[in-house]
Amino acid sequence: MVAYKSKVVERIHLPSRARRERALEEAGYNVFNLASEEVFIDLLTDSGTGAMSDAQWAALVRGDESYAGSRSFDELEAAVEAVMGFSNVVPTHQGRGAENVLYGSLLSDGDVVLNNTHFDTTRAHVANQGAEPVDCPVESAHDPTADEPFKGNFSLESAWAVVDDVGAERVPVVIQTVTNNSAAGQPVSVENTRDVAAFADEIDATFVIDACRFAENAAFVARREAEFADTEIDHIAREQLGYADALVMSGKKDGLVNAGGFVATDDDALFEQCKQRAILYEGFPTYGGMAGRDVAAMAAGLREAVEEAYVTDRIEQVRRLATMLEDAGVPIYTPAGGHAVYLDAGTALSHLPPEAFPGQAMVCALYQEGGVRGVELGSFAFPDTDRPELVRLAIPRRTYHTEHVEHVVETAVAVLEESESIPGLELVSEPEMPEIRHFTAELEPLSS
Ligand SMILES: *Cc1c(COP(=O)(O)O)cnc(C)c1O
Repeated sequence: MVAYKSKVVERIHLPSRARRERALEEAGYNVFNLASEEVFIDLLTDSGTGAMSDAQWAALVRGDESYAGSRSFDELEAAVEAVMGFSNVVPTHQGRGAENVLYGSLLSDGDVVLNNTHFDTTRAHVANQGAEPVDCPVESAHDPTADEPFKGNFSLESAWAVVDDVGAERVPVVIQTVTNNSAAGQPVSVENTRDVAAFADEIDATFVIDACRFAENAAFVARREAEFADTEIDHIAREQLGYADALVMSGKKDGLVNAGGFVATDDDALFEQCKQRAILYEGFPTYGGMAGRDVAAMAAGLREAVEEAYVTDRIEQVRRLATMLEDAGVPIYTPAGGHAVYLDAGTALSHLPPEAFPGQAMVCALYQEGGVRGVELGSFAFPDTDRPELVRLAIPRRTYHTEHVEHVVETAVAVLEESESIPGLELVSEPEMPEIRHFTAELEPLSS
């Protein structure tokens, strides 16, 4: 059931094929270098790219820009308490600001941090404190065809192996990322959260939930975890998050805003530490690097994120895209996650070896064919790992309609039909840090 109608619209258009080909060449076959006007349907990311509701726009106008004691902060505090069950909130400019504030307060040199899978910025912030990030995904996480309900889960077996190896005293923080963004946006069961909380308790570690997509996760729990079959989304969210000692949140995901984030905790001592660090890096703790109006819009967005109609509309749109692609014979990662559909470029462009970047070749072909911008998450983005060659089509929240989804499917099918003629790519220039080369590196097609 469709849950929205449009009140404000933005004009988009598909540039001519000749213009798309020229734009791609000028961008060095890296779609991060494309101007947004060159893109017809932009599925680069779901981060901060969604549409706000009329209630959120109204909240923007009413935002209180006071430096200290802003009324908009009170609204955020009340929303976090009501939706997530935490009473202490430290706002930040976005999710990575929250990571800096929290992990800077909890970690020091030589520590080891366990996570189902560290998201890029989490990994960087853990490493930035001199600590070592270790991933503990379940085995099926990187299997594009395993038909399991919770491929985002945290593997306790792997976690215990690390603790047995390094000693519990070196592991002060355990993180669970819901949904597991770096494992194709796969959900985490509440049962797994309970087990990880008990594990963290046993080794005397602080249990943090990276709650960026907590509402999408709750929707999967309602559909797939028998215990919660008749439970409302907002109850599931509060129960799952309630096992954590602290949360990090990016408002750009399930906060339904274009900027913002926060740390939340019930631990008063940790709250004090976070506030001090927030003053240093983010701003006074009632605005934390956000405009008061953005704080107000995020407070409204959090409440909307756990509305049944919103979250159903959201994950059903992603599922519909996945089903349409599958029915058309396009190989994808299954089951689909909460925020994106991942194309299996290794299978679709099986004539290309990893060193010819099949994922990036497919990203370029999707743009050339239909002006659709996705992102490569394979051998181009993650050199020297043996990840599957995936292309992510991330869906902005409340933004695109069924016609847009149909265009994406038609584009993918056209690419698949001509797949054998799609050339591989080679690097022409790359920045010094290999971890972030996919943002700026330039490539060119291999001559066949
Ligand atoms: C986006 C994201 C972050 C970082 O948030 P930003 O708002 O982009 O700084 C952290 N963790 C996860 C799981 C994310 O998806």
